[in-house]
Amino acid sequence: MANHLPDKTIIQKAAVFLDRDGTIIEEVDYLDNIGQLKLIPGAAQAIRLLNQTAIPVIMITNQSGVARGYFSESLVKQLHQQLNELLEAKSAYLDAIYYCPHHPTAGNPPYRQQCSCRKPNPGMVEQAIRDLQLGKRHSFIVGDKLTDIELARRAGAEGILVLTGYGEEQRKRLDETENVQPAYIATDLLQAIQWVISRLSVQPLINEFNAKQSKKMQP
Ligand SMILES: [Mg+2]
Ligand SMILES: [Zn+2]
Repeated sequence: MANHLPDKTIIQKAAVFLDRDGTIIEEVDYLDNIGQLKLIPGAAQAIRLLNQTAIPVIMITNQSGVARGYFSESLVKQLHQQLNELLEAKSAYLDAIYYCPHHPTAGNPPYRQQCSCRKPNPGMVEQAIRDLQLGKRHSFIVGDKLTDIELARRAGAEGILVLTGYGEEQRKRLDETENVQPAYIATDLLQAIQWVISRLSVQPLINEFNAKQSKKMQP
């Protein structure tokens, strides 16, 4: 029997990890000022789409500016609170946020260390899987740098390169990185998430739901 309904188990077993700078918010080298925090157009809509399909969406970001002494960890937390507020104003939310404040050679201990959380190490992904009890999922990692794609390879996830932030520049280096290839290249986060959703065949569920709703609303 033809069945266009999505496989619910697939949706329940997906998770999406998003980079921050150049992916959700505009790239500013070592963002250290709340006034400079700006959402990339379509980013809130992308996150809202994931929220509507109940796919966990987790932000993972390297913030070595802390180790380098450019800004404090408390500023990073303030920026994330501001980001949450901007998203909330657009009815979108992140299920969790992780950041790595370390650097292997810059600054002083404890921030100067060979940590397991600095991307492309998979520490933040593993932590999220434990904290949110995600178990084994079909995971996607979206970012504007090849380190995000390398992380996807290490974490057994599908990597998506967005062309916002450093993406356009990083794409030119794909020829040199045979082992690090994205599953998809998207113009921006919204297009990336539309691809994820179509890949998981969630779209028919949304259409089905909307169709029922609009029928009900007809007089
Ligand atoms: Mg980035
Ligand atoms: Zn770290």
